[in-house]
Amino acid sequence: MKAIEKVFKEYNDYYITDKFGPREPIKTPSGTTSSFHKGVDYGTHSKPYNQYAVEDGVVLEASTNNSCGNYVWIEYPRLNLKMCHYHLKEFYVKKGQKVDNNTLIGITGKTGMATGVHLHLGIFDYAKNDYIDPEEYNYVEYQPAELKYNIGDKVIVNGVLYENCYGGKTGKTVTDKHTIITRKIDDRPVPYPYNTSGDIGWVSEDELSPEEEPVTDYKKLYEKELLINKDLKLQIEQLEEINKELKNRIYTATDILTK
Ligand SMILES: [Zn+2]
Repeated sequence: MKAIEKVFKEYNDYYITDKFGPREPIKTPSGTTSSFHKGVDYGTHSKPYNQYAVEDGVVLEASTNNSCGNYVWIEYPRLNLKMCHYHLKEFYVKKGQKVDNNTLIGITGKTGMATGVHLHLGIFDYAKNDYIDPEEYNYVEYQPAELKYNIGDKVIVNGVLYENCYGGKTGKTVTDKHTIITRKIDDRPVPYPYNTSGDIGWVSEDELSPEEEPVTDYKKLYEKELLINKDLKLQIEQLEEINKELKNRIYTATDILTK
């Protein structure tokens, strides 16, 4: 899946106005200049399309300058990269803010050096230490179900290896709701350049053998609903009674007035 599909999740009629890569040399009064386009430009029919974060991450920058206009940089620890959104009409996040795939970052505009409404989407790959082509990058969704832990496992949380978790007592485990947890299998270096001061924990017994979900008592639920329904019916009847009474009073009142 392309990153842009996650960013413009509500829309699919965007189009590329400028590709990633070297640009045609431009002749200027001072000579020819060539540049490299470090992203892809996506046109939106001049409309202010919503732009969302692609998954759990953190806002590195949300600011304005002359060339990028209103821009936002978001870091995605799991993906080991950061993405930029340039030329926004407005942005709705701030530096340090945690985001997920439902966070509205901003809306497409043409602030900064832009001739039309478009999103310049850039992806900087930390492993390559360089920009990569957003159209070539294959975004793969996070699969939390694949994670399997053992008690006392070392865990990497948001890129930080917590050595003190190893062999520790069982206790509260960091959930992966808003945190990236990776089981440390061997001694490979931690790939993420991202640090967090969030909660940490270790793999607990509870987490490995969670209590069975209580079986829902459908009969009880049904009975409860019946009671609610009965109550509602009664209320409706009472209201109808009041309505009738009010109507009667109105009739009487108009009768008196017309006499
Ligand atoms: Zn661009």
